[in-house]
Amino acid sequence: MTCDRCENQAAYTRKYSGEKLCSQCFSKSIVHKTTKTISKYNMIKYNDVVAVAVSGGKDSLALLKIMHEMSLTHSFKIKVITIDEGIPGYRNEALEIVEKVCSELNLDHKVYSYKDLFELTLDEALDLRESEKTSSCSMCGTFRRRAMDYAAKDVGADVIATGHNLDDTLQTFVINMISGDTTKVGWMDPDTSTNSIRKIKPLCEIYESEIVFYAFTNDMPFQSEPCPHMNEGIRTDIREFLNSLESQRSGIKNNLYQSIIKVSKVMKKSNINSKERKNCEKCGSECTGDMCSVCTMVLKLKANQT
Ligand SMILES: [Zn+2]
Ligand SMILES: [Zn+2]
Repeated sequence: MTCDRCENQAAYTRKYSGEKLCSQCFSKSIVHKTTKTISKYNMIKYNDVVAVAVSGGKDSLALLKIMHEMSLTHSFKIKVITIDEGIPGYRNEALEIVEKVCSELNLDHKVYSYKDLFELTLDEALDLRESEKTSSCSMCGTFRRRAMDYAAKDVGADVIATGHNLDDTLQTFVINMISGDTTKVGWMDPDTSTNSIRKIKPLCEIYESEIVFYAFTNDMPFQSEPCPHMNEGIRTDIREFLNSLESQRSGIKNNLYQSIIKVSKVMKKSNINSKERKNCEKCGSECTGDMCSVCTMVLKLKANQT
């Protein structure tokens, strides 16, 4: 079986298109697709400083490799940031991998911990919550968004790039629909060019399975151990459900993704028109009520501490 694009032996079959690719042509196609996504949504502008959020998992390390290569030939700079949630045993291995990759690429790397920013590690926060109704993932996500905003400002970045792939977007959409959180659907539009610190997901049009193969075929080290809190959320079930649909009907994820983008654009417009923007009375960050979700959550947790 030869590659559709060169004379080499094919190593990967792209099921939804029928394309057969060798390892090199496959990697090139991933980089090409990422570059296309970035320009389609105007994700990076001239002279931008891009904070690449690297957790040590396959997605963020793949993103770092691609963004680093791009930065050598394009007019933007990258800085590497890592958020340390404070999950004993889990984050340590990942931090070592990120540190090693950064020193090989000669990139500065800064770590920001929940403990320093919120005076609570994730595990401490989870112990303090009143009920398990707030899942560890949604709690962690709230902290992470704020930590990344802080980190991006700290390194002087204009943009934050995360390694979210197409599957992540689909899962988040389904979770938001199940929980009735339609406002959040409007946040899923990849075009964030009007936000103050732009958040971009350059891998948002690539299947998770393709990033796995990219990491594998490029001999990339990455943390394979999943987060110990992963099974608390519904995400794993939805991930498996979508994977089983895709295995029966190739391309279904791409179709769903295109629909989500359309719905998201509509929702975003109606959000902007209906919600008045205020500033949090505690930390000053933009929110829709008197206090932002992060300050509200931290206050509540600390009240349980005494
Ligand atoms: Zn080839
Ligand atoms: Zn606040």
